[in-house]
Amino acid sequence: MIIVLKPDAPAETADALLKQIADKGLQPLHLPGTERVVLGALGDERVLAELRLESHPHVESVKPILQPYKLVSRELHPHDTIVKIGNLAIGGRGFAVIAGPCAVETPEQMRNTAEAVKAAGAQALRAGAYKPRTSPYGFRGHGPEGLKILREVGDELGLPVVTEVMDTADVDIVAEHADALQIGARNMQNFALLRVVGRAGKPVLLKRGLSAKIEELLLAAEYLLAEGNDQVVLCERGIRTFETATRNTLDLNAIPYIKQKTHLPVVVDPSHGTGIRDLVTPMALAAAACGADGILVEVHENPAAALSDGAQSLYPDQFEDLMGQLRRVATAVGREVA
Ligand code: PEP
Ligand code: MN
Repeated sequence: MIIVLKPDAPAETADALLKQIADKGLQPLHLPGTERVVLGALGDERVLAELRLESHPHVESVKPILQPYKLVSRELHPHDTIVKIGNLAIGGRGFAVIAGPCAVETPEQMRNTAEAVKAAGAQALRAGAYKPRTSPYGFRGHGPEGLKILREVGDELGLPVVTEVMDTADVDIVAEHADALQIGARNMQNFALLRVVGRAGKPVLLKRGLSAKIEELLLAAEYLLAEGNDQVVLCERGIRTFETATRNTLDLNAIPYIKQKTHLPVVVDPSHGTGIRDLVTPMALAAAACGADGILVEVHENPAAALSDGAQSLYPDQFEDLMGQLRRVATAVGREVA
């Protein structure tokens, strides 16, 4: 860390700060210049956070050298983490495909959709029993009944299931039924939820917030790892920009950037990322091409009748077609789709 003192900072301030740095176990550096004094701190500077140097009256600026996240960073953990959701490994050579409807609606809708995505090659099932809806009048999911249906269909077909939890009060019941807990975009910075989910003993699929910077996504993941859970998959699902032609702007820059910064796997959700069915396949292929570890994609047996997100849900035959194209793109970039 580099600490620049204000021009009028007294010499005692520099001495006191250097001592505080040393007391924290870092190597202090004193770099007096003609106009200003610069101090340095060598070592894991994150322990200096509690000194709150940026609000010191004689400190002009503080420049960290390390990333503010530690456990998720490649700096301390250079190798890729592989996350196991049931028998699906995410983050290795395989390209993971998690598919299913936006929400669990009925046992028939869930089973028919699940059978179709499994037949086409999906390796895990997604569907929400607790739905975060912008309007309180939208379909908000069947709760525990939906979890039961999802679990039953997953077991029948031998597919692991991923589903969202929105409330700390529901973490236990969702963890009882699901193979992985999804934290949705709207809850990415619900720190109480992150901490409880981090302790739930299940893998987590953490979606990027609607207006979250990549650094904020990584710090949200840091909360989960800080609770002792390193089984975390990050998910780019599009962000809010000035562009309104699509539901969100799918930030594919984030994929190679995140892969460089963290050892955690990252998947792309081209359904929420675009909001438009016909854009889902091209963006899913782009996700594979730019190094994502998988996709999370919405498919419905009859999108026209879907209770949520029908406009972005693929028809089963479109999903089958996507899988065929995905195999070719994945192979071209050295990955395998089951
Ligand atoms: C979802 O995956 O169904 C969902 C609600 O996604 P997001 O949190 O990304 O909006
Ligand atoms: Mn949805």
